Amino acid sequence: MLDQALLRLDEAAAHVALDPDVLEKLKYPRETTKVRLMIRMDDGSRKSFMAWRCRYDDTRGPTKGGIRFHPESTAEEVETLAFWMTFKCAVMNLPYGGGKGAVRVDSHALSKAELERLSRAYIQAFARIIGPDRDIPAPDVYTNSMIMGWMADEYASIVGESAPAVITGKPISLGGSLGRDDATARGGYYLVRRLADQLGLEPGARVAVQGFGNAGQHIARLLAADGYRIVAASDSKGAIQRADGLDVEALLAAKNQGSLVALAGTNGITALSADDLIAVDCDILVPAALEDMIHARNADRVKARVVLELANGPITPEADAILERKKIVVLPDILANAGGVTVSYFEWVQNRQGFYWPVEEVHERLKTMMEREGAAVWAIARDRGISLRSAAYVHALSRLANAIQAHGTQQFFTS
Ligand code: GLU
Repeated sequence: MLDQALLRLDEAAAHVALDPDVLEKLKYPRETTKVRLMIRMDDGSRKSFMAWRCRYDDTRGPTKGGIRFHPESTAEEVETLAFWMTFKCAVMNLPYGGGKGAVRVDSHALSKAELERLSRAYIQAFARIIGPDRDIPAPDVYTNSMIMGWMADEYASIVGESAPAVITGKPISLGGSLGRDDATARGGYYLVRRLADQLGLEPGARVAVQGFGNAGQHIARLLAADGYRIVAASDSKGAIQRADGLDVEALLAAKNQGSLVALAGTNGITALSADDLIAVDCDILVPAALEDMIHARNADRVKARVVLELANGPITPEADAILERKKIVVLPDILANAGGVTVSYFEWVQNRQGFYWPVEEVHERLKTMMEREGAAVWAIARDRGISLRSAAYVHALSRLANAIQAHGTQQFFTS
């Protein structure tokens, strides 16, 4: 998985004049710590769970990235996600390196008290690795603000002082930022709006959303409010579609009750398999679930003109090549979903200042940054005749290379 991700680094390296030392530094994670967490279950038994934290690269600042709770997490997945965070933070010019963490657990099988004990155990194990100037976790797949609140609380009791800047995505009452909850989707939404003319998108355009978690729900809401039509959506239980558009409020209510599929059979809504969602006739496909959802065997079925990657790594490199041949424009994850970490950065800044911004200021700053970096990536792609993904990597790699060189010793043997 990491090897596949590194292909994108090699591709970008062909477009940037680089010292070979830069690639040597970026090809391997700096450190990955693996711990077995032991917690007490509600029935009195003890159970253990594998957990990791990877600090991939800290050239541009403390490492930053979420913690996911997933039954299939592996060390390699964590390292790959941390590699993507390194480039994501560089694309957005955030003063951070990249990191990621995970616990291999089916969190839905835990009670709330067990989940809290597991979250606290994670921080007990990794307290010396994380820190406001060292490594700053945040939510990711199947973790949320409640879990970040427990983690921040555990960290504060270990270090003996309040340290809200150690974790972002916290509840507002513990120093979270306004606007962090929908930031991932909102960043993607600002990007689509900024590039709509170039992409030939107009309000009324049809959108299919794969995955109806935080990012999927918010992008459906934001685009629908702008007049886009959500023609299909899926969650882990299945998918539904309606060519004239689905009512987003009804989608949110159904998801709250359990699953979108409960709506099938009402108001002209039909069911389809979750796998068929990517093949729905639409203008924008939004993968907002997990990695590798669009791969060599199904990429040919994509009918959308534009793919907005709100998930991390939803398209494999083979599928990327197929979509490029089909002239489908991909707004790449390290740019398209960077709104989340950008507002995490705002949260960290506010925690350090002890001064909190109104939501309008968060939105305005996010919009400015997404538009600025989005336009820069678009210009690189246009000028060099490369995909937006390659252009985003080129943009990030130039910043990383400058920072690696500025740290010094690069010319040690020649000067
Ligand atoms: N987990 C999110 C991501 O993959 C957010 C990371 C953060 O806010 O630090 O970008």
